[in-house]
Amino acid sequence: MIFPLVFDIGRASGEDGPGLRTVVFLKGCPLRCLWCQNPESQNSDKEMLFTRDLCIKCGNCDTECYSLARQTVGQYYPPVKLAEMILRDEVFYKKSGGGVTFSGGEPLLYIEYIRDTILCFHSIHVHTAIETCGIFDFNSLEENLLSKIDLFLFDIKTIDPILHEKWTGKTNYKIIENFKKLVETGKEILPRIPLIPGYTASEENLIQIAHFLKKMGIKKFELLPYNPSGVEKWEKIGKSPPANLSKKPLNQVEFSRWRDFFLISLESNKYNE
Ligand code: SF4
Repeated sequence: MIFPLVFDIGRASGEDGPGLRTVVFLKGCPLRCLWCQNPESQNSDKEMLFTRDLCIKCGNCDTECYSLARQTVGQYYPPVKLAEMILRDEVFYKKSGGGVTFSGGEPLLYIEYIRDTILCFHSIHVHTAIETCGIFDFNSLEENLLSKIDLFLFDIKTIDPILHEKWTGKTNYKIIENFKKLVETGKEILPRIPLIPGYTASEENLIQIAHFLKKMGIKKFELLPYNPSGVEKWEKIGKSPPANLSKKPLNQVEFSRWRDFFLISLESNKYNE
């Protein structure tokens, strides 16, 4: 089994599945999306985050950083410990219909670890979701974890394999194949489409995605407005953010325009086959 590092645990999130959720972020991702909001999630090893504004220049960097300007990202928890931390929020799950979401990075790099964590819930029922970029070993998922997951939040960035490689470092052949296989299992899937200005937020791209989802018989989806919070994080891990990345979030007017455009594309008869 490959043991992941956890780089964050979000509590009471209302964005990553139904109800209030505990979101476990695992380090390591096969993609390198130019707009990644969590660039510290890409590498599976421990990393140092440096927040320049917090540094008081005391010179104690080698011992302990009391101002928290330097922070190590990535903590290992055995499955039983992680399960215990997740179950601390059980009361919120019951009241809100929530549960746990495994995110990243790419959580399905760690299929057996997630399975073992869920097994530690024993008889306590917790709604489980996986947020995936779509690159994973489908056979291993089917064999070890599929039956234990209630919902897949599945990122679809583009249908075009060349653009996918340009934007993320890898083509999307595996992603499309895994998406189709997952649809065939009858599991609940919520495709999530990030709206990134200058990249995915284009008419051509959204028309192609709408066409694909329609062919797959998908009725529910989510559009994710661009959030530039990742830009600052690139600097914290000592790297330059991609040059064309906007520092402004997608505003409500722009978001509504793209949402309406996407809905019209889904309803359009142009692609009926
Ligand atoms: S799939 Fe997600 S975590 Fe991985 S590089 Fe892309 S945006 Fe970042």
